Amino acid sequence: MSETERQNQPHAVVTGGSGFVGSHLVERLLDDGFRVTTLDNYSSGRQENLKHIDDPSLEQVTHDVRDPFPDFDAVDQLYHFASRASPTDFEDYSIQIAMTNSLGARNAFEWALEYDATVVLASTSEVYGNPKTHPQTESYNGNVNIRGIRAPYDEGKRFSEALARAYIEQTDIDIRTVRIFNTYGPQMRPSDGRVIPTFLDQALSGKDLTIHGDGQQTRTFCYVSDLVEGVRRIAETDAMAGDVLNLGHTNEITIEELGETVVDIVDSSSTLTYESRPKDDPDLRQPDISKAKEILDWEPTVDLGTGIRKTVEHFADQRDGDEQTAQVTDN
Ligand code: UDP
Repeated sequence: MSETERQNQPHAVVTGGSGFVGSHLVERLLDDGFRVTTLDNYSSGRQENLKHIDDPSLEQVTHDVRDPFPDFDAVDQLYHFASRASPTDFEDYSIQIAMTNSLGARNAFEWALEYDATVVLASTSEVYGNPKTHPQTESYNGNVNIRGIRAPYDEGKRFSEALARAYIEQTDIDIRTVRIFNTYGPQMRPSDGRVIPTFLDQALSGKDLTIHGDGQQTRTFCYVSDLVEGVRRIAETDAMAGDVLNLGHTNEITIEELGETVVDIVDSSSTLTYESRPKDDPDLRQPDISKAKEILDWEPTVDLGTGIRKTVEHFADQRDGDEQTAQVTDN
């Protein structure tokens, strides 16, 4: 491809483009014919998540979204995905997380306005907190402990959604919000802290799987390629302008069942061990995805067994590469 042809490609910017979901999204955007720029401060993202991509249409820029965004020639789509998202980080990086999701969102929206770019804002099922309705529809207002240990993330994301709403009211910005439920797949850091990489790491090294509480809390787990498909449809579907949508798998299982499944798939000698449960850990979570089915004609296609097997295939490499991130220090 010539330089002129490259300049004529649509341009997508992905904040958090070296993170778990961001890196999969970048790969998909390149496949879809975009020129892609990532903005990442590499606090939880890893450069190696994109090292297998040798494509001149990809540019990687070191940038923290808490700072005003750099200038570009033109931007068509902005995927605002930068933020630590693991509950184990919610206390250690609380200020970073709160500011990334508040100031970072402001910087993203102001910048998108300048370029007239469509924004896809990554929100989360955490906006529902410990939900009192089940499954969760987009119209449910949630049950978040505003002074709890998860608040910097939960309330940070809720604020970014409220700010999006304000910008939509007062400007002609096009923001589409995706509430992402638990997602997993290759390129999650083994030390990420979330349950699937933790259980895989433990099962592969023959350690006991650490079940929090009695393991009867539930989640659903969406394989990352399904999520990325949904995110792309949100960006390309005009009816999504200004709207919000859940994306996640609907197969609800207990964490104890998940542990048994992982041990079985890995064929591990590990057993399950029961530990205390973190405060404010939601008891139940399952998305109602009727809206995604109706507007995007989207539903997940990868079942948990298949997705975990695909993740395991990539896991050995990632366990080696995890050292790099462990050396990054920030606040
Ligand atoms: N969990 C667990 N053991 C672990 C890590 C997580 O039992 O080593 C539980 C956690 O308490 C929660 C569920 O698994 O009930 C999902 O946790 P995760 O951190 O993946 O994401 P969350 O859904 O809480 O955002």
